[in-house]
Amino acid sequence: MICMMFGLKIDNVDRKEALRYAEKFFEEDRFHYIVTLNPEGVVIAQGNKIFSSVVNDADLVVADGSWLVRAVNFLGGAIKERVAGIDLLLDILNLCKERKYSVYLLGAKEGTIVSAKKRLEDMFPGIKILGFHNGYFDAEEEARIVEEIKFLKPYFLVVGLGMPKQEIWINRHRDLPVRLAIGVGGSFDVISGNIPRAPYWMQVIGLEWFYRILKDPKRIKRLSFIPRFFLLVLKSKLGIV
Ligand code: UDP
Repeated sequence: MICMMFGLKIDNVDRKEALRYAEKFFEEDRFHYIVTLNPEGVVIAQGNKIFSSVVNDADLVVADGSWLVRAVNFLGGAIKERVAGIDLLLDILNLCKERKYSVYLLGAKEGTIVSAKKRLEDMFPGIKILGFHNGYFDAEEEARIVEEIKFLKPYFLVVGLGMPKQEIWINRHRDLPVRLAIGVGGSFDVISGNIPRAPYWMQVIGLEWFYRILKDPKRIKRLSFIPRFFLLVLKSKLGIV
C-alpha cells in the first residue's frame, strides 16, 4: 500500500518487505530505483519540483526516519516501520552476495569509497564489486563513469552523493544497464568506519540526527529542516497544505 503525504509517495513496507521488493526488481530486466526518504528530504521536496517528481517516479520509497513514520501516522497514513537506508543497503548487498549479483559503488570521498569497498568485501565474502568511483566529478569525468557502468553492467548501483543530488542523478541515468539503483546518502562514510553509526537506542527514539551533529558539528547548519518539517506536519493536520 502507498501513502501520499506532503505530495510525496511513501510505501508502507517494513524492512523485510522492502528487501522482497528489491528481489523482485532484480528479477525484472529493466531499471528500478529505491528512494530512502527522511524528514529532511520531505522538506527539500517542498521547494524542489524535480526532486519531488523523482521521488514519485521511484519504484519504491521507504520511510527512513522515525519522525517521518510518526508524522505520517499522525496525519492518518499507515507506515509500518522506519526502514533505515543503511540497513536496507546491507540487506540488499547480502542478497547480491548470495545470488552473485554484481555491484558498482558511486559516491563519497576517494579514501572513503576505497575503504568502504574493502569493508564490504570483508563483510560479504565473495561479493562481486565490479567497480567504484568517488562522488566528486566534473562533467567529463561523469561521462567516463557512465561509460564504465554501461560497460560493466552491474546489477546493483549504489549512489551516495547526498539527497537530492543522488536521486536526481539516478533518475537522469535510468537508461543505464542496471537492474536496481539506490541513493544511500552518507552510508559509505559509516561503512568505511569514518563516521560511527548512532547507538541503537538513539536510532529507536529518533535521535540519530543529533548524534551525527555531535560527531560532525558542521552539520548544525542543516538543522533548519527540523522546524520546517514540524510546521509542514502541523499545516497538513490543519488542512492548510
Ligand atoms: N557527496 C559526494 N559528492 C558530492 C556531495 C556529497 O560524494 O558532490 C557525498 C559525501 O562525501 C557524503 C555523502 O555524499 O559521503 C552525503 O552524506 P550526508 O551525510 O550529507 O548524507 P545524508 O546521509 O544526510 O543524506
